Amino acid sequence: MVDQVNLSDFMDWVVDRNPGEQVFHQAVHEVAETVIPFINDNPVYAKIKVLHRMVEPDRTISFRVSWADDNGEVQVNRGYRVQFNNSIGPYKGGIRFHPSVNQGVLKFLGFEQTFKNSLTRLPMGGGKGGADFDPKGRSQHEIMRFCQSFMTELYKYVGPDIDVPAGDIGVGGREIGYMFGQYKRLTNSFSGVLTGKGLEYGGSLMRTEATGYGAVYFMEDMLHHIGDQIEGKTAVVSGSGNVATHAAEKIVHRGGKPVTLSDSGGFIHDPEGFTLEKLDWIKKHKAQRGARISAYVDEFGGSYHEGKRPWHVPCDLALPCATQNEMGESEAKALIGNGCKAVAEGANMPCTVDSIAALQGAKVLFAPGKAANAGGVGMSGLEMSQNSARLHRDEEDLGAALRKIMSDIHDACVSQGTQADRSVDYVKGANIAGFKKVADAMLAFGVV
Ligand code: NDP
Repeated sequence: MVDQVNLSDFMDWVVDRNPGEQVFHQAVHEVAETVIPFINDNPVYAKIKVLHRMVEPDRTISFRVSWADDNGEVQVNRGYRVQFNNSIGPYKGGIRFHPSVNQGVLKFLGFEQTFKNSLTRLPMGGGKGGADFDPKGRSQHEIMRFCQSFMTELYKYVGPDIDVPAGDIGVGGREIGYMFGQYKRLTNSFSGVLTGKGLEYGGSLMRTEATGYGAVYFMEDMLHHIGDQIEGKTAVVSGSGNVATHAAEKIVHRGGKPVTLSDSGGFIHDPEGFTLEKLDWIKKHKAQRGARISAYVDEFGGSYHEGKRPWHVPCDLALPCATQNEMGESEAKALIGNGCKAVAEGANMPCTVDSIAALQGAKVLFAPGKAANAGGVGMSGLEMSQNSARLHRDEEDLGAALRKIMSDIHDACVSQGTQADRSVDYVKGANIAGFKKVADAMLAFGVV
């Protein structure tokens, strides 16, 4: 019987079984590297092959999404839901609409989600879904028809006690509204089947802000742990969507100075820093279909850098909040060279393996997304409980709950990731803390 796992044999096995899914291999490798030594110290997990079972989704559903565009032309997209692991609660994780969506991307996101949801301590399993649909340039009616067609298939597989999707890239409040409306119509029921809903129909206060605010809270906790603070520090932020704009906003609340934001076209740099007024303008501007971040410069000044990412701008703090693999090794080295003290991943896996190694090697505090961006799903968990209990919690109460969720995750990382020299390996801490709860539940279930 196996009581030890070897990282390289394990990864060969994962790569063979999941050909061509590089981002999934990357996500599994990042977890396996830190969790396998823990498993080898606790052979009960190796004996039941818990990690081998954890990297295999419970199921992957793929379906056709047909719809007619405004010219009456029929369009065909592919939709997915990866139900990764429901050992500690119903599947929970966002829906992404982006042309880059494929099975490998959603498996990476669903795998990460399982650990992230476990870290929140709320009863939520891991899942992720989406479609290779590009909402850019589509009219409101086209987006509505697409969402309705997507949900007409997805509704068979989700439910408030089965699988509760949320938003992600390309899916915000408007898309959640269209999908919720279609689910309600198809099932003749009003239930908490989605989170990120509008406040009028079961949504939670603070959900919109939670991921970005949470990432900054985690950054704040890492700095406090070494006797430092955000106040007075310059931050570079990437992205200009939900996570990025709220992260920048919370940095301003804490007396820091965010100086960059970006989109898929390039980044803007405002050396004066974004004020709350400027950030409100950006939020409104980017909410318009096809709007580009470059327009900021005409309105407020600063500079626009087409086709570039912001990691060469001198800063104390960095928050990658756009998408996966948006910071490579040379960019991490540029941050290190400029004296950056801490990096927190607002997006999912924005830093490559090499960039994380460079940051950790240079003793830059590094918070992985599964810990730093867990505030969004934490608040989604509280939206689910408000829906089940038919309750409405107020903003102050939820704001305090979010702050506590993030500091509890920070504490869990410190408890599992503190090294001999008293520094904290947050990657190791988050992976082991997230793994343990799910693994112990799987242990209780026997071989399933
Ligand atoms: P949004 O759709 O609101 O914003 C995404 C931002 O990233 C946009 O500025 C977009 O630019 C940019 N972007 C997307 N793809 C690329 C690319 N290939 N290259 C450069 N920029 C890109 O998404 P969110 O803010 O919700 O999500 C951002 C990240 O945070 C994702 O990794 C998501 O999985 C993660 N996340 C989100 C949570 C949430 O609560 N929303 C929860 C936890 C994680 P453009 O406008 O040009 O497309």
